[in-house]
Amino acid sequence: MKNIKDYNLDDLKLEMQAIGEKPFRAEQIFKWLFVEKVKSFDEMTNLSLDLRNKLKENYDICNLEIERKLESKDGTKKYLFGLSDGNAIETVLMQYKYGKTVCVSTQIGCKMGCKFCASTGIPFIRSLTAGEIVSQVVAIEQDENCKVSNVVFMGIGEPMDNFDNVLKAIAIFNNQKGLNIGARHISVSTSGIVPKIYEFADQNIQCSLAISLHSANNEVRSSMMPVNNAYNIQELMKACRYYVEKTNRRISFEYALAKDNNSNLDDAKELVNLLHGMLCHVNLIPINKIENGKFQKASLDNIMKFIDYLNDHGIVATIRRELGSDIDAACGQLRRKNLKQPSEE
Ligand code: SAH
Repeated sequence: MKNIKDYNLDDLKLEMQAIGEKPFRAEQIFKWLFVEKVKSFDEMTNLSLDLRNKLKENYDICNLEIERKLESKDGTKKYLFGLSDGNAIETVLMQYKYGKTVCVSTQIGCKMGCKFCASTGIPFIRSLTAGEIVSQVVAIEQDENCKVSNVVFMGIGEPMDNFDNVLKAIAIFNNQKGLNIGARHISVSTSGIVPKIYEFADQNIQCSLAISLHSANNEVRSSMMPVNNAYNIQELMKACRYYVEKTNRRISFEYALAKDNNSNLDDAKELVNLLHGMLCHVNLIPINKIENGKFQKASLDNIMKFIDYLNDHGIVATIRRELGSDIDAACGQLRRKNLKQPSEE
């Protein structure tokens, strides 16, 4: 059955026309879905019973079922949502001073195989539809009775490997008649699928782009991220420069520091040489150790020396606050645990 949340307003108008309804019905339905956030067609009380029945016959409303919800001491909340096909995805809600940010998943599993990521080792099943992506925010707003102000595409999956649905989801998030989350409040993170970075730059949308870099050295980066064998750092940087030229937006480079791996001063030096003169920002993350993972968190002293080196050499860098570490909020951790221990509560 078609998912009614897969449609942005203009497409929903076409859908309504196709079932013999007036386009303004689409506006009403869109508002029920993304402003009132109702969970059933029966609650759409300004539609005729006949239309509500027609909608029920043709569309699924895509309510995500909360299978688990974990709350961190720092206020971070992690959801494991059940989908209609029996699969599960995870989504994280983070509270910042400036508002609430939701970290959405884009795929069930991930094909990228990054060695430090908890999603690796979980089989890839499929990409999410646009409706399944936006439903993560809708379900959290329903559950918490709140308004989400920011969305980051940093959950499970590679957004650029589900490009069309991610763009569609961004457009639905943006729609002022619905969730009304501005493009500047949306950030897309990629492991570095170079051709898609060019396409993303050409979209003319004001979203932020984050690149999971993790090393400025091809040998080290390839040992952490297999995608580097397909698109190496030089090709990646060329695409990043194109993005900055085209959009005039600052790129955020994610760099997870692992002890004795990518966190020495030589590594910092290579990073400075690579990023020198570029409109960018480096987001340092103390790497989260995953089960059976070989990477260890760099020490605080090590992290401070690394960031000082970058800042002293003209690269703006910050350390990402670790939110939700007590509830396994890092990429893939909850789903991985749930797959292994389905009865654990
Ligand atoms: N596939 C996309 C988005 C999902 S991962 C990407 O690679 O960017 C979101 C971010 O979490 C990425 O920067 C990723 O490198 C980082 N990440 C994954 N596992 C991590 C871990 N164990 N510790 C720290 N950061 C991690």
